[in-house]
Amino acid sequence: MQQIQFDNQFFNHLPADPENKNFIRQVHEACYSSVKPVIVSRPELVAYSQEVAEMLGFDQTFCQSDDFVQIFSGNKQLDGMQPYAMCYGGHQFGNWAGQLGDGRAINLGELVNSKGERFTLQLKGAGPTPYSRSADGLAVLRSSIREFLCSEAMHHLGIPTTRALSVVLTGEQVVRDMFYDGNPEPEPGAIVCRVSPTFTRFGSFEIFTSRGETEVLRQLVDYTIATDFPHLPEPGPETYLAWFNEICQRTATLMVHWMRVGFVHGVMNTDNMSITGLTIDYGPYGWLDDYNPDWTPNTTDAQGKRYRYGHQPHIAQWNLFKLANALYPLIQQTEPLQDILNDYAEFYNSSWQQMMASKLGLTELKGETDETLMMDLLSTLKLVETDMTIFFRKLALIDTDNNQINNEELIKPLLEAYYVEEQLTDSYKSKMIDWLHRYRKRLSENSLSYAERKELMNSVNPKYVLRNYLAQQAIDSSTEGDHSLVNELLEVMRRPYDEQPGKEKFAQKRPDWARHRPGCSMLSCSS
Ligand code: AMP
Ligand code: MG
Repeated sequence: MQQIQFDNQFFNHLPADPENKNFIRQVHEACYSSVKPVIVSRPELVAYSQEVAEMLGFDQTFCQSDDFVQIFSGNKQLDGMQPYAMCYGGHQFGNWAGQLGDGRAINLGELVNSKGERFTLQLKGAGPTPYSRSADGLAVLRSSIREFLCSEAMHHLGIPTTRALSVVLTGEQVVRDMFYDGNPEPEPGAIVCRVSPTFTRFGSFEIFTSRGETEVLRQLVDYTIATDFPHLPEPGPETYLAWFNEICQRTATLMVHWMRVGFVHGVMNTDNMSITGLTIDYGPYGWLDDYNPDWTPNTTDAQGKRYRYGHQPHIAQWNLFKLANALYPLIQQTEPLQDILNDYAEFYNSSWQQMMASKLGLTELKGETDETLMMDLLSTLKLVETDMTIFFRKLALIDTDNNQINNEELIKPLLEAYYVEEQLTDSYKSKMIDWLHRYRKRLSENSLSYAERKELMNSVNPKYVLRNYLAQQAIDSSTEGDHSLVNELLEVMRRPYDEQPGKEKFAQKRPDWARHRPGCSMLSCSS
């Protein structure tokens, strides 16, 4: 049996709920409640991530053992595990929602690996907790596969994220009304083991301020700074401000990454915002197929589209504002908090421009002219259905050496990115061709050779992203008992920037059958 070392600092250093019975309640002046996962009948491994296993120091034999399935389905606890659910609140869709908490997530403990790195292991879908409100504490296979694959895909894209060790079937059926339209159906139950240095969220702080529990707030803040931001000095108002500034910068950086790859989180409530700037809580997320800043995959948000792609950086700032309010009792000054929030916008904008420059293969930004070039491209992309991922990948192929090139040849590498041939009118084409000429001219002032530019662009414009329909295909076959596509997708998503000959079918644009299919273009919060 694998030797695993736990050191449960969160559990041991922060105030606990004194009640040990598992029933739904409001939990006051506590960061967590002890609770055990439920026993499941027939746990079965669907997939595990080799990289996460290695990071945790697990060998392959262990990952393929019955012990592994028993532990990561919640049936068995290792020595040193102290399971608990965290207490937090949150603003959901713009409104204060009060206590939320881990309604179906149970932390098993904090593992310390051989490098001394610390990771909390958490089961999602492991049964009810004091925070389950009216729900069952469970998760279904489709949402578990989506979380598992996307966490790993994001990591390999170089985007800060919580990780996923494993996904297991429980052997139980779980009833879900996928579109909240009165059609509940039994679905296979599953559990993901998520892994992260911390699962603390903006809402973890908001809950204490909302209740006037300032001493617990201070304890959690000081604990978080000491544990997850150890480079910051001793606690105090100045340190709290420096900390808030760092959270803003990390969050801005995360938004720039999401914008770069076309990721839409779907539910950016403050309880789904990581305090360390990780992507957390993969629910009705999606990837842009055609470039449409107004798109959201989340049918629950279809009306207001609060969490649409193009709005994410702004919503992040709104969420940071709520976090600033939560931290205010410890700082007692409005102005420096407001200044930091204003800096967020500036920091985001300059980071976004640098990111866009790299997507275009430009090594430096030339002020307004480059900004206009970027904005003109984005507004042209919106005019007709254009696959964002394919477009930027193919843009690297635009010829800069050949001065004799004609317009048809110029636009040719990009044609694969378009969804609807009839939309490629002469007037549209001439707009895009005009832009391409401007782009070529700009590239001639660049210091990179063609090969160097291509390399730069291919390192930021992925060829493979976890397209919504691909995840759905893997879910469909896994539901039928064949988990090979989950594993194949996991494998392809490990090297998203590489060409990977033979795997091109995973880089194709969304097929027409997937345009309106649930799971491929529309998702709800039901999971
Ligand atoms: P989410 O929108 O998935 O981030 O969830 C918001 C809140 O609802 C969190 O407190 C979750 O733990 C809780 N929740 C979501 N689904 C369930 C479920 N099936 N059982 C219990 N709690 C849930
Ligand atoms: Mg959540």
